[in-house]
Amino acid sequence: MRRVSLEYRHWQAALDDPRWRWPSFGPREMACQGTGKLKIDTVFMDKLQAVRWAYGKPIAVHSGYRTPGHILTVTSNRSKTGAHTYARAADIRPEGGPADVPLILSLALTHGMTRCGLMLSRDRWKMHLDDMTAEEGFAVCHDRQGLYCWTY
Ligand SMILES: [Zn+2]
Repeated sequence: MRRVSLEYRHWQAALDDPRWRWPSFGPREMACQGTGKLKIDTVFMDKLQAVRWAYGKPIAVHSGYRTPGHILTVTSNRSKTGAHTYARAADIRPEGGPADVPLILSLALTHGMTRCGLMLSRDRWKMHLDDMTAEEGFAVCHDRQGLYCWTY
């Protein structure tokens, strides 16, 4: 499916946008937490929504889009977080907790995600999912047999 980029100077502008077709996720949680700006990659969001529907339980998004300026204040590791500046990454917490990580990994692969970062500390656990590709300069799993994974 063709990638379309939706851009909003502030996430509130997306609240009435009829193009918003991801009922499990809201503009506020997908927006840059530093600036309020929101950029949506429609293909990535379709994948995230597909994972959510297959999972069948709520998935909270803790970080979605990040403006390139804001990202510098979040982390210095651009290679692993650059996907957020393309609006093609989300840091999520599935409702079932860390026990559901293997299930989410499987669903993410099925629905077209390519990479996963895992933070499994007890209170701050999260999963980063993105769909960046080798052609775009990102490390991916050889032959797409699995997700390319790393830990924080
Ligand atoms: Zn992330």
